[in-house]
Amino acid sequence: MPPWAEVDGRLDDVQPNFDVYMLGKLLWCMVSGRLRLNREWFRNPENNVTAMFAKNDDPHLFIINEILEKCVVEDSKDCFRSASDLLIMVNHFVHSINRGGQLLREGVPRLCRVCGYGHYHPEQVRPSSTVAAVRFWPVGSFGPSDAVIYNVRPFCCDRCGHIQFFKGS
Ligand SMILES: [Zn+2]
Repeated sequence: MPPWAEVDGRLDDVQPNFDVYMLGKLLWCMVSGRLRLNREWFRNPENNVTAMFAKNDDPHLFIINEILEKCVVEDSKDCFRSASDLLIMVNHFVHSINRGGQLLREGVPRLCRVCGYGHYHPEQVRPSSTVAAVRFWPVGSFGPSDAVIYNVRPFCCDRCGHIQFFKGS
């Protein structure tokens, strides 16, 4: 039962987010394989699915915690308003996973899409910056005079050296 619903006796005013809390707990049980999550302590090291299955190196486990952040919460104002909101978030992540996407967060492992073994890490371009300038020649252009310059944040695979980058500011 959500902490905000802990009352003596019968609960007269059941809010739509009442079930969301328990659905979050159910999700945690399904992923962890354990029967009970005490309170909202899914981030504690002994309960954190990203730590429990760290050897799997699965970035999608971090999505579980993102979902739980909106369900298994101490205060009702931090919870999804209803299971419909939860469904929207779950569908969003399922769509992302099906297309090979993942969370872009600090600490989430980024597996190399080329060698399949290494991890991408931010490449230190200069001691004070993680942004580099890269010139692109548009298709059909005549060379450097037509170059477009982007500031990018490069990420390099620690195994094969493949580089990805994001447009920086
Ligand atoms: Zn690689």
